[in-house]
Amino acid sequence: QQQIKLIKRPSGTPTKEDFEFAEVPIGEPAEGEVLIRTNYISVDPYLRGRMNNVKSYVPPFELDSVITSAVIGQVIESKSAHFEKNDVVTGALGWQEYTVVDQSGIRKIDTKLAPASAYLSVLGMTGLTAYFGLLDIAEPKEGETVVVSGAAGAVGSVVGQIAKIKGAYVVGIAGSNEKIEYLKNELGFDAAINYKTVDIKTALANACPNGIDVYYENVGGEIGDAVLPLLNKFARIPVCGAISSYNNQEADIGLRVQGYLIKSSALMKGFTVGDYASRFKEGSEALAGWLQAGKIQYEETITEGFDQTIDAFLDLFQGANLGKAVVKVSDI
Ligand code: NDP
Repeated sequence: QQQIKLIKRPSGTPTKEDFEFAEVPIGEPAEGEVLIRTNYISVDPYLRGRMNNVKSYVPPFELDSVITSAVIGQVIESKSAHFEKNDVVTGALGWQEYTVVDQSGIRKIDTKLAPASAYLSVLGMTGLTAYFGLLDIAEPKEGETVVVSGAAGAVGSVVGQIAKIKGAYVVGIAGSNEKIEYLKNELGFDAAINYKTVDIKTALANACPNGIDVYYENVGGEIGDAVLPLLNKFARIPVCGAISSYNNQEADIGLRVQGYLIKSSALMKGFTVGDYASRFKEGSEALAGWLQAGKIQYEETITEGFDQTIDAFLDLFQGANLGKAVVKVSDI
């Protein structure tokens, strides 16, 4: 079987030369372990940070080791009392076609509730990130203006829909006309801005005639800067991500935020979804409920084939994905 290793720390934007496909044995499960065939691999922007040798909220990947991320797989051999052959499971597993894993490293998922891949997006980490960042930090109220960047991606698309459920006026920022149409026509956003084709400051001011109460930050850079002058009194800014700077080799210098935060008595708060681990059950149940009630929809960009995994990861930085970027390795 094949696995994908990180062989060089990327400088700037990662390239295929930073990775290597290696042939490794499949392995045999010991007592308490299971053998899993990989069905879906989640490719995520945060993995870029783990490729640098810096201290962060998750440790960096080791060079010459397999990359890991959220994976969905099916048990093909079990030496665990908790799992049976054909169970569909998820866990933080390697980018490889088969994995032997201890029973403590995986959990079963309910594929009657939603297709398995949904557990990598709306019912998984990105859905929970949207849920807690928006509801715990920003607490949007009916009639408030909520702006979300990276709006057509995995996190942003769920943020905007939850904000609509809460009765907010929702403005999305994304990078293509197809994404803008999707946000307005499919997800019911009140307005959407293609930051690649318009002057973002003017477009935001036009789209937010009542100012901005909540800005859910996914991208940073000039988009984050453009929001600051429009903040209303007591605005809230959950800082979830800053993808525009992940490949920068030098510090990203923009507007100094202090004056804007003071003037508007705004709250700007960084977070990681792991901060909410003790409340994941609450978040998962709420998201599953909205999904079943048809109140939130999700989209996936599924790249077929294990050999396409690196391309699917690199494509995140080009905005190729609508909704969650996922690699399909094999059928369930
Ligand atoms: P997405 O599905 O949103 O995919 C990434 C998207 O980012 C692309 O599709 C692209 O869309 C946009 N993008 C890429 N480069 C730039 C750029 N230079 N400027 C502006 N937009 C850009 O990924 P996720 O939903 O998984 O993640 C969204 C953000 O949330 C990321 O910053 C990620 O790191 C963060 N995150 C944080 C977590 C936490 O715990 N704090 C957990 C999960 C994610 P477009 O076409 O619009 O440019």
